[in-house]
Amino acid sequence: MSGLREIVTAAALAAVAEERDRQFAKWGDQSGHPAGVWLAILTEEIGEAATEAIFMQIGDGRTDAERREALRGELVQAAAVAVAWIEALDDADERETRYVGAAR
Ligand SMILES: [Mg+2]
Repeated sequence: MSGLREIVTAAALAAVAEERDRQFAKWGDQSGHPAGVWLAILTEEIGEAATEAIFMQIGDGRTDAERREALRGELVQAAAVAVAWIEALDDADERETRYVGAAR
């Protein structure tokens, strides 16, 4: 990986991690959701990203920069939900150590 690519990837992953923390602070431990609920949450965020992608394509009252930022935000939210779902599938003891224990 080139240096620039590493920086760009690190920035994207940092944005996802920040959003994951924001979602956890807002919603708490959601690890008990059944798969269908996770799918609904992730699909909702993907749907919002799709809406912004369409606005990127056809335009609306916002500037290109505003639309790009909105799409980026929705993609970050979707990625953070995917991370949360992955965590929920991971070992329960690992969740306790990383989140519940860390919050005490
Ligand atoms: Mg959203």
